[in-house]
Parts: sequence; structure tokens; C-alpha cells
Amino acid sequence: MELQDNPNLQELTPYYLSLYLKPIDPEPFRVPVGISARHIHLSPEHLKAMFGSGYGLQVYKPLSQPGQFAARETLTVVGPKGVIEGVRVLGPTRPQSQVEISRTDAYRLGIEAPLRDSGDLAGTPGVALVGPKGAVNLEKGVILAAAHIHMHPSDAAQARLKDGDRVQVLVEGERGTAFNNVLIRVSEKFKLEFHLDTDEANAALLDNGDIVEIVARKLLM
Ligand SMILES: [Zn+2]
Repeated sequence: MELQDNPNLQELTPYYLSLYLKPIDPEPFRVPVGISARHIHLSPEHLKAMFGSGYGLQVYKPLSQPGQFAARETLTVVGPKGVIEGVRVLGPTRPQSQVEISRTDAYRLGIEAPLRDSGDLAGTPGVALVGPKGAVNLEKGVILAAAHIHMHPSDAAQARLKDGDRVQVLVEGERGTAFNNVLIRVSEKFKLEFHLDTDEANAALLDNGDIVEIVARKLLM
């Protein structure tokens, strides 16, 4: 039954509406896991400020998403309560710098990083980044990246999902759990993968390449 057909719709509070799920049709959709360790995306301006004029990121190893790579370059992240060294920069550069950390990292740094979708940086806290040739005080850009699934349009068609949908992901196993509000991102450039951070993966005993299932789509965001 579609949400609109529910005769009791008017009686539901926004909280219950937010829980409304529709099972994936015709069956749960299997997705491999990719765990994101803490990392930094840099703008060209910030790359220049910390590595020097004309510097280009060096490829350390390609990532599963086509065109994306882990760079040889790392930075030191300096927060009010702690420091994390050797944080990997990912390439290529992006219009806005963004620091993606786990909640464990946020405690260590002393930063209240909010849960956000990538690129949604308004109102997020900043942090200091230190590179070999300079330092930058980011005004914003530190987030806990919300779990999401990258899909090629062919996967989306098979799962009957579209870009921007939110889904429930089920994890089997000894610490079986479910992730709600997982954002679906669809692009010709994407390869099918469920991205979550190290805290989430550790809590669910997940490793890279494990398989999880999309079991339901949220009818309201
Ligand atoms: Zn991702």
C-alpha cells in the first residue's frame, strides 16, 4: 500500500511518518560494503596553501569509485583537544574542502561534527589543517559523513530506486543491525557500493567487501 492510500495518514505524527517504509520490490537488493576511513577533500586553493604553488596530488591508489583516488599526500588535523596525524587526502580536488571523520575522531579532536551528506557544509565547524608548506584554518567543512550507497543507473533501475531516495539497509551476522536513512546516490560515474565510516563498520562487525541488503525504501525523508 502506498502512503497516500493510508486512511489514517492524518493521524500520524511527523515522527511516525518518518518511519514509514516500503519493502524493496521484488526482493532485497544486495550491495557490497566499502568502509571510509577518515579523509580530507581539498579545494585547489587549500592544496596550494599547504603544498605550494603548482602542486598536483599524486595518486597513491585508485578508489573503487571511478576517477577517485587516495593521494600520497597526508595532513595533520589539529582540533581544540587533540591532533590526528597522517590523515589521507583524496583526489581529485573539489570546489570545497571537506574533512570526513568518525565520531571517535571528533571526540579526540574536541569538535562537534554534525552528521551530513557530502557537500552539505553550511553551519559545520572548521578545523586547522597542517601540510608540508603551510597551514589552513578551515572555517567550515568537518562532518560525520552520512552513510550512503553509490549506484550506477543500471543498479538503480534493478532496485527500482532513484537518486535522493533514503533506504533501510540490513546487516546480517552476529551483530546484525539496520541502518536507516541511507542516501541513494545515482550516477553514470558510480559503482555499486555501501559507504559507511569506521565507527559504523566496527559497530556492525563489517569488513570491506561484505554484502548488505537494501530491504526497504523510506516513503518520507
Ligand atoms: Zn561514497
